[in-house]
Amino acid sequence: MDLSRRSFSLSVLAIAACRSVGAEAADGPPPKPGFALDPDPATVTPVHHTEAEWKAVLDSEAYHVLREQGTERAFTGRYWDNHAKGRYGCAGCALTLFRSDDKFESGTGWPSFTQPIKADRVAVASDTTLGMVRDEVACARCGGHLGHVFDDGPAPTGKRYCMDSVSLIFVAG
Ligand code: FE
Repeated sequence: MDLSRRSFSLSVLAIAACRSVGAEAADGPPPKPGFALDPDPATVTPVHHTEAEWKAVLDSEAYHVLREQGTERAFTGRYWDNHAKGRYGCAGCALTLFRSDDKFESGTGWPSFTQPIKADRVAVASDTTLGMVRDEVACARCGGHLGHVFDDGPAPTGKRYCMDSVSLIFVAG
């Protein structure tokens, strides 16, 4: 690479970095791994952290799924076969999202639920990546990608919230 091209590339990088920082108003760093789940907040207030802050507290797989809309491989996550009683919170911000009473055997290799613990805990948006039309599910507080929801679940809702284990933290009880 000649010097002029290298200089141009660095300039583009610098502009991209400035835009990234300038576009993000951070609410302080996210919680460190090992945090306790939040007790049920009356309202869910969105929080925002910079990508650098997320990278500092999430391991690479959690960062890829939560912040880059990745998907863990089926039957590899820590919770698809978890049958313990308890609650599942967001691995990014600790907001309680699901409970074991709503978990069911979907046979997919991902932890699956018929509903969130409260409707306001998740945000659902259309996802048209990978040549499919799906409903993406994200944490309503930190915006972390959790998985997708489908209309082929069992009673009582008929929904299948198909989540990535790495996006969740399970607490027994
Ligand atoms: Fe979150």
